[in-house]
Order: sequence, then structure tokens, then C-alpha cells
Amino acid sequence: MSLLLDLLFPKTCYFCGRPGCYFCPSCNGIQPTMAIVPNPLPPLSGLLSLFPYRPPLRRALLDLKYYLVTDLVDELSRLVICRLTSDYPHLLSYWSQNRFTLVPVPLHPFRQNWRGFNQSVLFVRRLSTGLNLDYADCLQRIKSSPSQTQVNPQDRPQNVSRAFRLAANPPSRVILFDDVYTTGSTLASAAGCFPSSTTLWGLTIAS
Ligand SMILES: [Zn+2]
Repeated sequence: MSLLLDLLFPKTCYFCGRPGCYFCPSCNGIQPTMAIVPNPLPPLSGLLSLFPYRPPLRRALLDLKYYLVTDLVDELSRLVICRLTSDYPHLLSYWSQNRFTLVPVPLHPFRQNWRGFNQSVLFVRRLSTGLNLDYADCLQRIKSSPSQTQVNPQDRPQNVSRAFRLAANPPSRVILFDDVYTTGSTLASAAGCFPSSTTLWGLTIAS
């Protein structure tokens, strides 16, 4: 399997094409970092989307999702950890001093079984180790809705409305993690499951 993946997706830098890895060290610094999103949809009290969702990063995230290139998770996680540590040290120490817990936005079991993995869970495990934050898989997706990318922007809130529920007692401070932020409906819908006393941040790789 991994030999086949190497043939189909040879490890070359998504930016410059240099062989050896998906994001080579000299290109890591090129991607501009985005700012913290002001006024995210409530009940999120803050939202950080690290990179603009455009090629070649967009292609990498789609390759991961649809062609199951799970190796990409390692390198993308490293990219996220590097960027958070270098550009957002204050936010990171606020999260760790206040014991925020990473929570992945789940996929519906149907889709997860088909894909074999939920990329957000894979990311959160690595981010939890790299950033020294706890993680909890406390959300469950109960509605199998079409991917937000296949739905008109105006229909997206309805598409994910009541799509999640809490499967376990939630931590009191939460960083909801998803790979991509588009209209924000998915994060807002997931965030709506938590008690109003929960402090919620959102973190996505791209938007
Ligand atoms: Zn490169």
C-alpha cells in the first residue's frame, strides 16, 4: 500500500517540487500566516485559521481527504505546530496555562468508515503531542450531511444544523479543530453542543 502511494503520490514538495518531503524546509516559511479571525460566529470566543485555503496547500488537504494520503498528516501537523509556536506564542501559552483541550470535529460514522479515518482526529493527536495540550474525542456526528463543499454557501448552516451531539462530558475549555474553515457553519454547529459555560476557541489549518 505504501509503495503504491509512493508511486501515485511521490514525496515532492507541494510548493517547489523538490523530492523528499511534501513541504520542504525552504518553502515552509513562504506560506503567509493569516491573522486571528475577528468576531467569529458565536459561541466561539476566538478563531485562528493558519493559512489561506488556496493551492498548493488546498491541493494537499484535498489529496489527504480524497486520496487518503495519510503521510501528509505528519508534515502538515509539523507545519501547524511550527507556525503556532513561532507566530502565536502568546495564544499558545494562554491555551496551555488555562488547560484548553483539543476536540476534533467528527465525521459521520458512514463517511469515516468509507474513508477509514477522520483527518481531524489524526491531526489532533499529533497536535496534542506537539503542542502539549490534552485532547478529547467528545463530539459525535449524528447527521450524515453532504460535504459542505458540495452545498451552496446559503444552504450550509441548514446542512450542518443539529449535526453533532456530545458523546462524553466536555472539558470546560475547548479548542475545536477542523482542517478547513469556509462559512463557519460546521464549527458553529459543533460549538453549539457545548454548555454555555464552556470557553470555546476554533482552530483550523486553512480558510
Ligand atoms: Zn519546497
